[in-house]
Amino acid sequence: MESNEAGSMLRDAGLRVTAPRLAALEALGDHSHATVDEVYERVATGLPGTSLQAMYVVLAALTGAGLVRRIEPAGSAARYELRIGDNHHHVVCSLCGAVEDVDCVVGEAPCLMPSHTSGYLVQTAEVTFWGLCPACRALETGDDAVASVPAAAPHDQPVRS
Ligand SMILES: [Zn+2]
Ligand SMILES: [Zn+2]
Ligand SMILES: [Zn+2]
Repeated sequence: MESNEAGSMLRDAGLRVTAPRLAALEALGDHSHATVDEVYERVATGLPGTSLQAMYVVLAALTGAGLVRRIEPAGSAARYELRIGDNHHHVVCSLCGAVEDVDCVVGEAPCLMPSHTSGYLVQTAEVTFWGLCPACRALETGDDAVASVPAAAPHDQPVRS
């Protein structure tokens, strides 16, 4: 992301344009689903005056202004991303914690409607798909080729020649 693009995002959201905010937006543009630590690592060299604590404050402000979405898969530190407003979901690796986007099954919130809502007006459903990422699948089976095998490939068929 260009600085001027990040700057107009901030201005459009009514936030003052500051170097740490610009740097955080640019870092998230390069690396989605980053933790605060990861954002800090990316901005620290260009912004020697910043701190991890400052990045917590910056990301909270960006999240509060709706520029950044915060997700927190169970057992993981909070992660931040710029992809907002499309009700997309996530698939998380239960071994290494890798996170990828998956499009919303129906494309809008709430993606799922419970059969009984106890009188609540349901507005969103946050769906997390759990599984093994390609790298962990390859480790688990000791087979590098598994990463390119479709998930539905039959593994139980005897091989005949
Ligand atoms: Zn994994
Ligand atoms: Zn995402
Ligand atoms: Zn959905």
